[in-house]
Amino acid sequence: MKNALLTTKSSDVFSGPYYLSIAGELVEADQSFDVMNPASGRVLAKAPAATAQQLEEAIAAAKGAFKSWSVLTYDEREAYLVAYADALQEHRDELAVLLTLEQGKPLKTMAEPEVDQSISWIRQIAARRIPVEIVEENDSHIVELHHTPLGVIGAITPWNFPVLLALWKVAPALLTGNTMVIKPSPFTPLTTLRFGQIAQQVFPAGVLSVVSGGNELGPQMTAHPDIAKISFTGSTETGKHVIRSAAGTVKRLTLEMGGNDAAIVMPDADWNAAIPQLFWGAIGNSGQWCVGIKRLYVHRSYHEEFVAAFVDYARQQKMGDGLDPKVTVGPVQNKMQFDKVREFLDDIKANGQRIVLGGEIDEAREGYFIPVTIVDNPPEQSKIVQEEQFGPIVPIIVYDDVDDVIDRANDSPFGLGGSVWGRDTKAAVAVANRLETGMVWVNEMHTQGVDIPFGGHKQSGVGTEGGHEGRLLFTNPKTVLIKK
Ligand code: NAD
Repeated sequence: MKNALLTTKSSDVFSGPYYLSIAGELVEADQSFDVMNPASGRVLAKAPAATAQQLEEAIAAAKGAFKSWSVLTYDEREAYLVAYADALQEHRDELAVLLTLEQGKPLKTMAEPEVDQSISWIRQIAARRIPVEIVEENDSHIVELHHTPLGVIGAITPWNFPVLLALWKVAPALLTGNTMVIKPSPFTPLTTLRFGQIAQQVFPAGVLSVVSGGNELGPQMTAHPDIAKISFTGSTETGKHVIRSAAGTVKRLTLEMGGNDAAIVMPDADWNAAIPQLFWGAIGNSGQWCVGIKRLYVHRSYHEEFVAAFVDYARQQKMGDGLDPKVTVGPVQNKMQFDKVREFLDDIKANGQRIVLGGEIDEAREGYFIPVTIVDNPPEQSKIVQEEQFGPIVPIIVYDDVDDVIDRANDSPFGLGGSVWGRDTKAAVAVANRLETGMVWVNEMHTQGVDIPFGGHKQSGVGTEGGHEGRLLFTNPKTVLIKK
């Protein structure tokens, strides 16, 4: 139908309308819902609200497309993925601006890198392969391990990195021969819908569909008999619903969920040099980062100087609309999260904890702005230390003993990421090895790559994304035993 809609120049901001992508077509929905610009708190655009029937059509189209897509060679699927990356590249500027408008993140430092990384990852992943392995061979037989596609993948994504987290799923799933239906978060559907529109120019009908709407589409996907696997990124609470719902059809699951990552700054650390990385590790994306630093442990010997220097660095940042090039900290993405983060501030104040920066919301200001807030040494059992704040508040917590701080870091139902900072790399690595997490960085922060597995331990996740391990999880290990 409406591929003429893609005639925007790359520098234009796409003003809509937005369509569902189903079975190779751009499809209207009878109902729509408002998508807000978090920097203004006003409606940015209307997004189509798919009906249950439209989601059924997308799943049926994906099931139909699987027959021919799954039997293509890796080289053929690579060519499609590269063509998709090329098509997205033409719209790169427009997509990044749209991402800032709907998500709030600063354009230059966050939205453009997110779009660029997503496109780059499609290209890189397209070149990866999962070959057939010979697991045994003797005079009488040969045993091969094939990694066959699963079928239709249902991708359910959150609002903090809506583009990157969707593309992390798309590229490996399609490369390995699966087809996919994506359901973006109702808070940030627009950029994903545009990615979907552009996909219809490239892929055979039904290979990649994007269906926006309310949360109720999620359970329809997780219980659906024609979806073989759910690749979910979101909160641990929702992830538990996904597990329960998927049991009925024994779906494969990859779950990337919440976290409460600790950073441990060792007694010997060059802490002053690390402050920018620690600050952005905590406050980047306004703290709405699954692997953000949510608990920052510093040694008593330099604690006071550290807090002063951290506050000083924080004061140099500018909060505001992400389209303003001087802005480095954007708003919180949505009103629901704004209210949740406010509860943390209320709790901090009600319990008399020491706020050394921020803490006051300007109620007259439009948009969902919460100032960068630094809390000095709240008790270990406080809400801000124990729970995932997912906003621009960071507690700096004092420790005396390294063994004790490792216990405190591990004393959590979460186990997503963490970081250790110290001059003695060997000692820092020894601490990192004792953290019960899926990932841990030593003297660096948030490094990622297509061959680096990304996933959570404990209630932060099941399975991994990225890396060979993540790609394998889009396949079925199939053993073929052949008599010679
Ligand atoms: P969320 O769980 O509220 O929503 C995630 C997605 O699930 C959305 O698309 C939503 O519509 C859908 N959903 C809601 N109810 C559902 C149901 N019953 N069944 C199926 N799907 C349903 O999460 P969010 O608020 O969008 O994202 C923030 C959370 O995500 C934080 O906890 C954060 O740590 C986590 N997160 C984790 C990672 C990771 O890689 N581990 C990455 C980003 C975000």
